[in-house]
Amino acid sequence: MSPSRRNTPFAIALALAVAGVSFASAVAAAPDAASLVDQARANIRLNPEASQRYAESALDALKARPDPDLEVAARLVLCDYQGERSPQAAQSEIDAAWALMPKVKRTGLRAGIMLCEGQLLELANKTHEALARFDEAARFAEGAHDSEMLADSLYQRGYMRALLGQYAEGLIDERRALSLYEKLSLTSRARTALNGIAILYNRMGDYAQAKHYYMQSLKGHIAEGARREQAVTLHNLGRAHENLGEWHEAKQAFEESLAINHELGYSRGEAYALRGLASVCNATGDATCATAYLARAEAAAKGAPDARLHAQILLQRGISYRLQKRYPESIAALQEAATTFASADSLAELRDTYRALSATYAEFNDWRAAYERQVEFKNTSDTLLLRQLDQRFATLKVEFDTAAKDKENTLLLREKAVTERALEQERTVGRLQAAVIALATVLTLILATLVVRHRRASQRMEALANTDELTGLPNRRDILGRLSEWLGTPQGPSCATLIADLDHFKPINDKFGHLVGDDILREVAKALTEIVREPACVGRIGGEEFLVMLPDTGLEEAAQMAERLRERVLAIDTSRWFTDRGISASFGVTASAAGDTVSSMLRRADEALYDAKARGRNCVATRGG
Ligand code: GH3
Ligand code: MG
Ligand code: MG
Repeated sequence: MSPSRRNTPFAIALALAVAGVSFASAVAAAPDAASLVDQARANIRLNPEASQRYAESALDALKARPDPDLEVAARLVLCDYQGERSPQAAQSEIDAAWALMPKVKRTGLRAGIMLCEGQLLELANKTHEALARFDEAARFAEGAHDSEMLADSLYQRGYMRALLGQYAEGLIDERRALSLYEKLSLTSRARTALNGIAILYNRMGDYAQAKHYYMQSLKGHIAEGARREQAVTLHNLGRAHENLGEWHEAKQAFEESLAINHELGYSRGEAYALRGLASVCNATGDATCATAYLARAEAAAKGAPDARLHAQILLQRGISYRLQKRYPESIAALQEAATTFASADSLAELRDTYRALSATYAEFNDWRAAYERQVEFKNTSDTLLLRQLDQRFATLKVEFDTAAKDKENTLLLREKAVTERALEQERTVGRLQAAVIALATVLTLILATLVVRHRRASQRMEALANTDELTGLPNRRDILGRLSEWLGTPQGPSCATLIADLDHFKPINDKFGHLVGDDILREVAKALTEIVREPACVGRIGGEEFLVMLPDTGLEEAAQMAERLRERVLAIDTSRWFTDRGISASFGVTASAAGDTVSSMLRRADEALYDAKARGRNCVATRGG
């Protein structure tokens, strides 16, 4: 059938195969061969005969200076050329290329050979084997990281998948091929892939969409001067018009395609265009013109190993026979065409053939056969429609998935950016936190130091506040505070208090000076401290007066303590200050009574002291509570 004969199936693969090799080799190994291969490659589409001549010359040049990569490239060009003319010749190029592979540097070329093999299989109508080979090529190219080869393989596989009704997968391949070509800046091949997408729409029954894409790529081919591509696309455009019943436009497109193919000497292309023109004649009921075109088409297709092309010509032949009322010949031609289309799983053409067969049988008055063909037509038509519908859904899904994935990627990217920003902020916060922690630590240390210092200072101040500066004993406030505390406790007021007052101290001060007086006060304090033990305590309550507080002590016991203290004061050695006298103290002792306060106790102790003074000093007087 090939309403949509691919644009240069081999040409693309080979162009690739050569591209990677020729530039590198052009400088070093075999410059002549390299430029010849370049020329061969450049002419694949424009002038196949010239392309073949360049490739053969390249092989000649390579005999003198072998370069396996270049030779494989040249053989792939020849394989392309021969594929449509002589499968045997193409196969021998393939064999020669395989033999060279162990020495080839660019391993991706292997995929190029596989593509040629697949193409031969396709031409032999072994579509499933061809697909398997293209698939193998795609996998290999992917593994070899050869983008160009991969793009070619995807293009071929996509085409074949579409041919077998796997439109959605076909579309994925074609789109990937397109994006790879665009990435590699291979605009011409990108356009070919675009064409592949158009073919796919055509197969899905979306002829209007297909027409749009064909027209678009046609413009590109014209601008590029790619004549052969132009011829193929014009043919495909003609098929789209044909399917849409736009006979006038179809005719025009087929005629243009025919002219270019003729100019290029591409007879297979001519055969396709002529078949198209015959179809237009048939559709308009002109069997004469159809017959004429078909005769030319058969002549042009002669020798071309293209089973579907032959079947398509047969289909039109069958229709024109019917128009001429040559029914048995019509049936024979259509049956043969049906067999080919059925084996190729070409449902659209099979459907058309069944429809034509049914019409022929009906005109032939074989109503039973006509009915059977009608049923087959309907079944095929339904299957095709279902497949097309399925594939349109699948394609929609692919498109949706692609769009969704793009959106997902955008979202992921945005999320990533947000996360990165958040991380950066977190890091900033982290740094700030660290700084704050460090600062806080320093501040805490400073504060702690200050607190400690302050506490020490206040302790010192408190101590100072409670200490008598001269003697280091608890001062009046402190000792009376303790007494007050004791008297306020539940276990109190069982305590005794004694006041010691130095005798005739004023004269000492007067005679020996205040400093000596101070000295004596310190010495007395020391003496008292030696004897007064915890929990009892001694403090200085005034000039030369001391107070001793004796917890849990009775009057008797307190008097004994006073006596011991008196003796101890008397025993102080005064020789360092004077020798004419000694030091003594008088003691007033009292014990607590119920309801005693600090002042009541002090008053009694004072009274007892007064007694002691009155008794002549250096003695102990008591006053009970
Ligand atoms: P009495 O035996 O009656 O107690 O006679 P006294 O001289 O000891 O008593 P008075 O109360 O007349 O004198 C107390 C003297 O204590 C007066 C003062 O010069 C002396 N004095 C008071 N405080 C201090 C002090 O801190 N240092 C010195 N050096 N003398 C003090
Ligand atoms: Mg006194
Ligand atoms: Mg005194």
